[in-house]
Amino acid sequence: MADPPGATAAAPPGVTPEHRSCPGTFARAWAKAVSGTSYLPMTQAQLEALLQRLTERLAAALVSEPFDLRAGHRVGAELVAAHVASAEGLGRTVEVIQLRLVRDLGLVTDDVEDRMARLLAAVATGYARALRDRTLDEQESIRRAALTARAQAERALRASEARFRHQATHDPLTDLPNRTLFTERLGAAINSPGRGAERLGVCFLDLDRFKVVNDSHGHQVGDALLVTVADRLRRALQGHLVARLGGDEFVVLVERTGGTDDVLAVAEAALAAVREPAVVDGHELAVSASIGIVERQVAGTSPGDLMRAADSTLHWAKAAGGARWAVYDADRDRRELARYALSAAIPAALDRGEFYLDYQPLTSLRDGRVVGAEALVRWRHPELGILRPDSFIGLAEETGLIVPLGGWVLAEACREAESWATADGAPPFVSVNLAVRQVHRPGLVQQVRGLLRHTGLPPERLQLEITESTMMNTAEEPVRALRVLADLGVRIAIDDFGTGYCNLAYLRDLPVTELKVAGQFVAGLRAPETRADERILASLVSLAHALDLTVTAEGVETAGQAERLRAIGCDAGQGWHFGRPEPAERILDRLR
Ligand code: C2E
Ligand code: MG
Ligand code: MG
Repeated sequence: MADPPGATAAAPPGVTPEHRSCPGTFARAWAKAVSGTSYLPMTQAQLEALLQRLTERLAAALVSEPFDLRAGHRVGAELVAAHVASAEGLGRTVEVIQLRLVRDLGLVTDDVEDRMARLLAAVATGYARALRDRTLDEQESIRRAALTARAQAERALRASEARFRHQATHDPLTDLPNRTLFTERLGAAINSPGRGAERLGVCFLDLDRFKVVNDSHGHQVGDALLVTVADRLRRALQGHLVARLGGDEFVVLVERTGGTDDVLAVAEAALAAVREPAVVDGHELAVSASIGIVERQVAGTSPGDLMRAADSTLHWAKAAGGARWAVYDADRDRRELARYALSAAIPAALDRGEFYLDYQPLTSLRDGRVVGAEALVRWRHPELGILRPDSFIGLAEETGLIVPLGGWVLAEACREAESWATADGAPPFVSVNLAVRQVHRPGLVQQVRGLLRHTGLPPERLQLEITESTMMNTAEEPVRALRVLADLGVRIAIDDFGTGYCNLAYLRDLPVTELKVAGQFVAGLRAPETRADERILASLVSLAHALDLTVTAEGVETAGQAERLRAIGCDAGQGWHFGRPEPAERILDRLR
């Protein structure tokens, strides 16, 4: 049956017998039927060429002996591979093959109708299988893509977590570990179980005079210097954790040490690395650092303890001049802590009235009269007993607490001295020590004036003792204040003269009335053969007199010294020979 029913009706008009043996005509009709049924990544001509090849295969299959359905499967699969892969595309393909293939190509076999039906079924089967395989493939690749995407996302997350962690634990300027990471590592080294028997050390490093670099060259140069120092430390101290704690402070953690020497070696390497001059932004900068070293057994220490000790030790290295290391010394630390505790207790001790004054006579070498008395402060400490000024004045000066303490001394001395009276109507003056901070305070003149008015003490009966070094370092303003006081009649004495760098020519321009020559010069008078000391003292006295200054010798312990000083022309003496520091009542007894 060459012409199935309806085939003529569906055949395009104008199909002539010449066309009937041409697979190109059929392929064109096929291409027209399927185009638009799905997206095809090829041109119309490419599609026609493909379909023409398939047409030839189908035609060959229809007439081949034996009849082989696999050709149909392959055509179905190829259609799918060429993206003619929709239900509609398959439908039109089946339709156009059924209606036109046999006719257009003029194929004739006995069982063509039967073969056609089975071939179409094979095309559809191949098509469906290929489509299923492709869908499975697509699903698989979607699954794979999803897996890959997830792995990528996880990697990105891990990377950003790592970045975040790095930022949180590193210093942005130098990229060294920061305080957080250092504290973590130190904590782990000290608190991890099983490490108690180990030893460890830290080097706490601070650049010397870094502030000067910042102030004179600007912060940018300062920052660049820090980066240079950080690089050098990192390179020189490989294997140890080097962290920047902030500013110009760095710290090195040395784990599992065998003793102090191990940490000393690290400190030496750090100092050597820093010491090279650094060229930053065209400036050659001399760099040095100070290091505080602590090395100890892990058991029994804590991170806080260790770092506080390292900090104190760093200050010792600085105080010793810098450009060096210092090693922690527990005894020294205890002493200093006690000193700090003592100074912190001064305000409360003032409130509770724990301070009192002793007075030591200043005696005329001409007639033995008591011309003055020096007020010397003492602290009746509730636990430590009576404390001499040497144990707390220095610290009070450093912390500034000398201002309230010295103010109290001044007021108390003026109040006490006002009541001193003598038969001849010329009672002694009271001599009060002034610390440098008190001299530099703007309100000094007002304070003294107020006290004199309040207590009724005449200005001539107050002497202020200022050490030589205070006087030398005093700027114009405080000197003017002293001059106002001197003009009021207040006496100004230079204390411990000869221990500083003062010279008499300089004193000429200062409002000074008296020199108190330091005890060590007087001590030289003890041995009869030390005539040189005596000559020096003698010329000092005559020079002072030429400048209208009186001279009091301190630390006069023997009658011999007193006699020599008198012979030299010294005006007054102070010391155990004349009387030790004693309570105010004893001074009153002397005056009677
Ligand atoms: P300074 O002003 O030179 O006081 C004299 C010190 O020498 C006193 O020591 C006194 O006890 C001691 N001394 C007196 N005679 C002799 C002697 O013959 N031989 C020896 N070896 N020493 C003698 P002190 O009372 O311990 O005072 C020490 C220093 O404390 C004073 O030295 C003074 O610089 C300071 N100071 C005392 N009271 C005050 C105060 O109220 N304010 C301030 N800022 N400093 C004070
Ligand atoms: Mg004094
Ligand atoms: Mg003195």
